[in-house]
Amino acid sequence: MIFTSLTSGKSAQGEAIEAFKTDIKAKKYIYLLGGVHGDEVEGVFVLKELFEWLKKDHDLNELPIIVIPILNIDGYRMGTRTNSHGVDLNRNLPSQNWSGELKKDKYNPGKEAMSEIENQFLDKLFHKFPPGLILTFHSWKRLINYNGDVKDISDFIASFNNYEVTPDIGYSTPGSLGTYGPEKYNCPVITFECPVLEEDLSLNDIWQENEKGLKNLFNENKFDRFL
Ligand SMILES: [Zn+2]
Repeated sequence: MIFTSLTSGKSAQGEAIEAFKTDIKAKKYIYLLGGVHGDEVEGVFVLKELFEWLKKDHDLNELPIIVIPILNIDGYRMGTRTNSHGVDLNRNLPSQNWSGELKKDKYNPGKEAMSEIENQFLDKLFHKFPPGLILTFHSWKRLINYNGDVKDISDFIASFNNYEVTPDIGYSTPGSLGTYGPEKYNCPVITFECPVLEEDLSLNDIWQENEKGLKNLFNENKFDRFL
């Protein structure tokens, strides 16, 4: 598929947040989002490999896709989960249950919902190109967390990588995309958690355990009902 650059966003530090889009007009778009947490390099890598493949393979059905490889570009450069204001972008979105309470530094929700320029950019894209399905790539442990009506897709991926599939990670995540997407845009969200690097586990290993499932999502075009 052919992707062109959208106008970049700007991070708090003035770095460009790149975004790419296929040239398909649609009512709704599939979002592939990476690097919400800047230190989760595994998720960023998996999305990068998937994106490279999507760009190369021209036998695929053309789909309306938007790719944001690294939303939290400042955090990625600094190797931090949070952005340069110390805010967790995945606790800063204006869901109804957003709370300003600081439970732990790593979950800092910001001084108000949507205070962070990186999330403002993301939401601007959502307004312009409404999301029909969001896949957001993180790292933690082998887990596919879904919100909204997307269990089938989660199970499909898990049939290849054997990751645990759950609608509930066991604690609440106010201000997260998984809460905000279904609530505000009626858009299901898959929070795709990769394992983190270890001595015997490289970035390439992590990509390879996900390669087949992610590619087959597109090969078998599982997206019709989201568009
Ligand atoms: Zn994360």
